[in-house]
Order: sequence, then structure tokens, then C-alpha cells
Amino acid sequence: MPFSKLGLTPALLNGVKAMGYTDPTPIQLRAIPVVLGGGDLIGSAQTGTGKTAAFALPVLARLGKHEARGPRVLVLEPTRELAAQVETAFRDFGRFTDLRATVVHGGVGYGRQRSEIQAGTDIVIATPGRLMDFLQEKTLRLDALKILILDEVDRMLDMGFVKDVKKIIGLCPRERQTLFFSATIPPEIEDVARFALRNPARVEIGVARTVNQSVSHAFYPVTQLKKFDLLIALLEKTDFHSCLIFSRTKHGADKIARKLKAANHSVAVLHANRSQSQRVEALEGFKSGKYEVMVATDIAARGIDVAGVSHVINYDIPANPEDYVHRIGRTGRAQAVGDAFTLTTPEQAGEIRAIERFIGQKVPQLKLEGFNYHSAPSIGLPAAPRYVDPRRAQQQQQRAPQGHGGGHHPRPAQGQAPQAAEGRAEQPAPHGHGQAHPPRPRSGGLSRGSWHRR
Ligand code: AMP
Repeated sequence: MPFSKLGLTPALLNGVKAMGYTDPTPIQLRAIPVVLGGGDLIGSAQTGTGKTAAFALPVLARLGKHEARGPRVLVLEPTRELAAQVETAFRDFGRFTDLRATVVHGGVGYGRQRSEIQAGTDIVIATPGRLMDFLQEKTLRLDALKILILDEVDRMLDMGFVKDVKKIIGLCPRERQTLFFSATIPPEIEDVARFALRNPARVEIGVARTVNQSVSHAFYPVTQLKKFDLLIALLEKTDFHSCLIFSRTKHGADKIARKLKAANHSVAVLHANRSQSQRVEALEGFKSGKYEVMVATDIAARGIDVAGVSHVINYDIPANPEDYVHRIGRTGRAQAVGDAFTLTTPEQAGEIRAIERFIGQKVPQLKLEGFNYHSAPSIGLPAAPRYVDPRRAQQQQQRAPQGHGGGHHPRPAQGQAPQAAEGRAEQPAPHGHGQAHPPRPRSGGLSRGSWHRR
């Protein structure tokens, strides 16, 4: 079904066209009619599925024209980056309307946000802390609110916003439409949903536990001491356009970035200890191609949408299995093809199994051909603090990971068609749809090696 049949206004259809979208994604097909009809909604969808447009388009359609009496829509987001990104989406889709959107988040001065609110805005996209400030000083009132959108609720709760979120919900008029999005809906999130929603329709698209089919992913076992050397070797042998590297800690992210710079990579860093202007500069520089690599922590990178991230490297295995899906969701967005590598150390058998159980598939374990796993490390980084989940502590005592027996896979020749170069056909994953394949060689050409599966 085309966008034109979904009941959106002509101005919004022009906005969609200007964005270059041709067909709605599955979540858009299912959510847009519900939202246009005024009903409450619980949506669980993988990142990269077009979730933002699924709520922004029908909400803009419902608002119609600008009104000066105070915001009619409030969108709560867990991070500043996500809030800024969602505001941009509202502005992009609504460019042929006179509706106004304002982003409200910490890390920057109050002045501009305050004057935009006072000038009269239709949509406020906010992180909970700064929103509470404006509510307390009564710059912002929610009396005119018609639609409340709670986005990435699981992450908002992980970040300790539960009290603020409940308080904000309590300050909204009872007569309203509420849209609720969360990658996973465990019981504590169901509680918040029950508190916030009335007879919601449920839209579940893809299972939040699956990794996009357009992403090939693999584990690269290595000792802690050789991790950084392996990272450098992977980058060297990979033909990446832009690569997002995840670190478990802010300190680790800074260190990785420093060492990558020393190895002549152009690097941006994104984590919560950086100032707002540094975060904006990092993200913009990464988006524009000024930086080929961005090193980030989970919280800072949650949901960020950078078109064309060709590779994700988990320098540290994620602390929670669901973060594996979120991190890998940064590449292969909206059906582009992407690769994701995770460096694992021998003591992480339990974490590996937890991820495989969560996503319901085995992840191939690969060895980088030509990399000397046994020589002394040239540069080392200290181990990230180990995440200890009591539920998993017992499993982590169990046996070490088993390599998946496999054959020898020559690296693709340069200049081959992308499909062949990725070697998808010849390297099926042992289970599920994830496929292992060697990184593409940089055009420029390094010496040919070959890649082995363990
Ligand atoms: P989201 O899941 O909202 O973060 O969207 C992921 C990416 O998909 C963004 O870059 C969107 O611009 C893009 N996108 C969303 N809807 C569509 C669509 N119908 N067609 C093509 N791209 C889309």
C-alpha cells in the first residue's frame, strides 16, 4: 500500500516525498492508521524500522495547523541525541506545514529553548530532566496537550528516569492519546504501559530480539591484551565507509579514540561526559564523513541514525544482550547492508551464550587470517569492567565457547560484484539468518590473506 492510501494530508505526503520514501515500512503501515484514528498504541519494533515516521507522520496530520496555545504533543526521549534526531524528523516531515517543533534537553543553555517555548510551539521533544526544569519554572504547561509519546521506554527506565517519567505522565491531561514505544516489554515496562495507556492497540514488528537480516555479524575471539591490535587489523582489512566502535565505558572510549588517532584514523568520540557541543560536533562530523570512525558508549549511541554506517565493531561485548541488537541496528538501517564484528575474550563465554540465546541464533566465531594472535601486543588497553549479572553468573562458570568447525574462506578478490565479494553464498551461518563473511578489502589493496572460521 502506498503512503497516499494511509490517510495522511497532502502537505505530509509532500514531506514524505521530499524525504525520498516511496513505500511505507511495516511498522508505518500498521501504526499510522491506529494513530490517525486517535487510539493508544504500544509499538515494539527493531531500531531502523522507520519507527519515528510511524508516529511523527500521523501525529503531524492530526495537529493540522499551528496553534499558539501551548504544546499539543510531547515526545519523551532518553538521550539528547535521540531527542535532536526526532525533532529533525518532525521538522523534515512537517516542512510543508506551519507546525512548530522544539527540542528541550540538557547540556545547553536554557535561553533559546525557553524563548522557543514562549513563542508558542506545537510539538515538544524532550529528555526528562530538562523538561522537568521547564515544568517547575512554569515556562512550559501541559494543559493543551493532546498526544503524549513515550519513546524508547526500556532505555528511559534503564537510565533511571522512571520517577520523572511517571511524574510527567501524571502532569498530562487525562484525556489524551498516548503512544508508547519500547524495544522490549518486560513486566516492569508493562506496568508503566498500564499506568499510561487506555486500551492500546499493539503493533509488534519483527521481533526486537532479531538482528536485521541485512547485517552480517560475527564474533572475533582474542585475548584482552591483543584486542586493540586486532581492532586495528580489522579496520585495516575492512573496506568501510564509516565505522561505529562501541566501548562499554566512557574512559575506554576515550582511550580507544586516542590510540586510533595515533594510528592515523580520523575519529569522533560520543559519550555522556562530553559537552553538548562536543557531542554535536562528533555526530555531525561522523555524519558528514569528516570522521571515518566514531567511538561511542551504548547510552550515547542509542537510536542514533547515521545513514550509511557500513560497520559496527563491538570493541567490548555489550553488557546486556539487548544492547547487542541495538548496537548492530546502527548498521544495515532501512535495508542497507552492514557488517558487525564483536571482539570477545576467553572469559566471556557466558556473555556470548546470553547474546546467542537472546537473538535465537548462533553467531559465527571467526579468526582474522594473517593476524598474529600470539605475538606480544604492540599497544594494549585495560580490560573494561566486567558486567556481572547475578542471573548469568552461574552460566558464566560453565564451559568455554566452542568454535564452530568450518572451512577455509578465501578473501574476496578486489573488484568483484558486491554480492560475491561479501561471500554470502559460500558462508552460511551455522544457524539462523546471520551470515559470516570476511570484511571487504579496502580498494587500494592490501596483501591478500584468507579468513578462517574456527
Ligand atoms: P527509524 O527506525 O525511525 O530510526 O528510521 C530508520 C531509517 O529509516 C531513517 O534513516 C529513516 O529516514 C528511514 N526510513 C523511515 N521510513 C522509511 C521509508 N518508508 N522508506 C525509506 N526509508 C525510511
